[in-house]
Amino acid sequence: MPLQNYLPETRSPNPILINDFPLPKAAYIHIPFCRRRCYYCDFAISVVGDKLRGESSQTITEYLQFLCQEIQQSPDLGKPLETIFFGGGTPSLLDGSQLELILTNLEQKFGINPSAEISMEIDPATFNLAQIQDYQRVGINRFSLGVQSFQDHLLTLAGRSHRREDIFHAVDLIHQAHINNWSLDLISGLPQQTLADWQNSLETAIDLAPNHISSYDLIVEDGTPFAKQYQPGDQPLPDDRTTADMYILAQETLTQAGYEHYEISNYSQPGKQCRHNRVYWQGESYYGFGMGAASYLNGQRFTRPRTRSSYYQWLEDGCVIDTPILTKDELFLETLMLSLRLQEGLNIQQLSAKFGTELATWTIENLQPYQQRGWVELTDQQISLNDPQGFLFSNEILSTLFSLKM
Ligand code: SF4
Repeated sequence: MPLQNYLPETRSPNPILINDFPLPKAAYIHIPFCRRRCYYCDFAISVVGDKLRGESSQTITEYLQFLCQEIQQSPDLGKPLETIFFGGGTPSLLDGSQLELILTNLEQKFGINPSAEISMEIDPATFNLAQIQDYQRVGINRFSLGVQSFQDHLLTLAGRSHRREDIFHAVDLIHQAHINNWSLDLISGLPQQTLADWQNSLETAIDLAPNHISSYDLIVEDGTPFAKQYQPGDQPLPDDRTTADMYILAQETLTQAGYEHYEISNYSQPGKQCRHNRVYWQGESYYGFGMGAASYLNGQRFTRPRTRSSYYQWLEDGCVIDTPILTKDELFLETLMLSLRLQEGLNIQQLSAKFGTELATWTIENLQPYQQRGWVELTDQQISLNDPQGFLFSNEILSTLFSLKM
């Protein structure tokens, strides 16, 4: 497909020049299939039930054909891939040979750096030892296990399809396969979750010795079963005070166990940060493939259609992208929002070079009240949020900046 098809038909008045954008070296691949929909989830997924997996499913096979078609039709912007992330959905419903097919298409189209980080999300009770070894064989070298909680009653309430015992079995398989780069996801702020439950989940996670832990605070998204059942601030959702305590407890417990708090919601052992996710936080370009996947190319973010039929139709219509390019102000605010998630924050010189000294000065001036409260660290070179208070109040800090600018 010509690059032109990926450029917007309508332009905002103040676009950033295309040359300002680094070439993409990362690709996100969306595998939208799940056994069932968890009650808090608003991702673009297709529910396939308990029995369907990989090669036995015509639905999945058909999707992979369209996905590979999209990869082949994509413009190649010239750099081999350095990170690839299979997210979902539940990518571990695929077999190794199916991931291999996608990787072969990516290799043919863009090339893959031999030292690339290739991650996939896996869910407890969806894979066995042979399958995970097959994933390694085809080149997956980082695994992210969707645990969310170690309490069966909370897993049930959240609509998860696995139970506590499944998690221990999954981790056993990870150890048996000698995987040395894996992550575990947890959620705080679940309905009925107490501080004691959360502490138990954190400590159990540490005992399992993952290289990386993601700790997300529940967001009740519109349109989910949770949104119908629970209003933010109401019981049985933990109140704001408790969720703030949960955040601080995670920060204290995980850093004491030797994990570096390198991003608002992410902790890692030394050298085990997620390289792919850093691409997003650093505002770099990336390809996205698959239903509902977002890409960020030439300063333009585009999200693909969120249902299988509309995604297939979009592919058949030639993948036309008609969203407007981000304006300079939008890009500036997005840069602040993403880079302040990182422990190191953002570099003032780079901010000035990209957006001008005026905007850099504006940022520093408007963050000074928060510096006085001890939430923001300002030096000659860097702007960053303090851990944990700055991270905890990041929404308040950013919404002030947004309201001043928009
Ligand atoms: S497994 Fe993940 S993607 Fe699938 S429904 Fe649950 S939260 Fe959503």
